[in-house]
Amino acid sequence: MTITAYYHPGYAAPIGDHVMPITKFALVADGLRGDPRVRLEEPAPLSEADLLRVHTRDYVDAVRTGEPRALAESQKFPWSPQLYPSVLLTGGGCLAAARTALAEGVAAALVSGFHHAHADHGEGFCTFNGLVVATDALRAAGALERVAVVDLDLHYGNGTASLATTRPMLFNLSIYGNDYHRNQPFRDVTTVHHTDGHNHRSIALPNGSGRAELLDAMAAGFARLLAWGRPDLLLYQAGADPYCEDPYSPLTLDHADLLARDRRVFEFARGERIPIAWVLAGGYTKDIAKVVRVHLNTFEAALSVFG
Ligand SMILES: [Zn+2]
Repeated sequence: MTITAYYHPGYAAPIGDHVMPITKFALVADGLRGDPRVRLEEPAPLSEADLLRVHTRDYVDAVRTGEPRALAESQKFPWSPQLYPSVLLTGGGCLAAARTALAEGVAAALVSGFHHAHADHGEGFCTFNGLVVATDALRAAGALERVAVVDLDLHYGNGTASLATTRPMLFNLSIYGNDYHRNQPFRDVTTVHHTDGHNHRSIALPNGSGRAELLDAMAAGFARLLAWGRPDLLLYQAGADPYCEDPYSPLTLDHADLLARDRRVFEFARGERIPIAWVLAGGYTKDIAKVVRVHLNTFEAALSVFG
């Protein structure tokens, strides 16, 4: 089988010397190019209407125009005229992968899911919430009813959780391994943690957790998800920042552990016959080749489970 992965060189806005390694998306695409098992395709950009189903007019206008600047930079990227077109493309990648997953069972987008983005502002390097924008677009098109986000980034998906509170057809499972108060680069993430609700659940991994703790938490999380209901689509935030050498990770997960994590997610999707689309999410290990390795391993996991 082949897996479609959505990539566009326009994903990367010029953000200067930044802790967010924005070049990684191109490096992952380079790592996939020439692999006959993966088909790289360019997504169409989101429309403004797609954004406005999820985000406020004031926030969308701020990112488009740069004014007011504090709101346009609330995600902590320097604003430039290229920012808005780039986030329309990354969100478009997320939507395209979700749509293709419904048709083919599995697909990927070489973008972040932007799980810290709220309706009226950005946080933690996340401008617009691609996961929820894709969900609402496909729901508006009548393509699906219920979507579950499986968020295994190092950080709690607070933006998705906040958006889930007004979307009963969306379930957000966030299994995370850090405390924002001690996590300097994410100090701007003001809404640390919501109280869990019927359709947004979180599991914090204790510092030092490894494969066994993670897989146990995933089993508990998947049980909660299925107790909520059977989704028409899974959106997987396959973060690389839980990796043990990541400067923000208090976990002990190595490449083999994260590969086991990815396999477990895809086995769950296949076992329950739920289409799945995944995105790359965070990853800040200084040696960027190790970040890229985590993301390429997610493809190996998907290919081995669905191939
Ligand atoms: Zn993260």
